[in-house]
Amino acid sequence: MTESRRLPRAMTSGGASVAVRLPVGAGTLAHRPTYRRIAPDNKYDQRTVVSAACAPQGAECRELSAGWADHLGALACTAPACFPDVDTENGVTR
Ligand SMILES: [Zn+2]
Repeated sequence: MTESRRLPRAMTSGGASVAVRLPVGAGTLAHRPTYRRIAPDNKYDQRTVVSAACAPQGAECRELSAGWADHLGALACTAPACFPDVDTENGVTR
């Protein structure tokens, strides 16, 4: 079980995006977004789906601004691929 904390303030005020699985509410994990191509073998098909960096082959996510996700109560995923270094108290990246 990964510990979860507030998103880094530099993200919530800077307009960065996070990947979340809907519905979003208090305690929903906000992940670093990664983009998986739908048809990686087709060079003409550049479509992607958003997923969590800690589970790039996992369920599809929605991309929200970090500020909005934080406002809705989402917490930073502390998996190594997402936000492993956020501070407990105020979401400041160490
Ligand atoms: Zn994650």
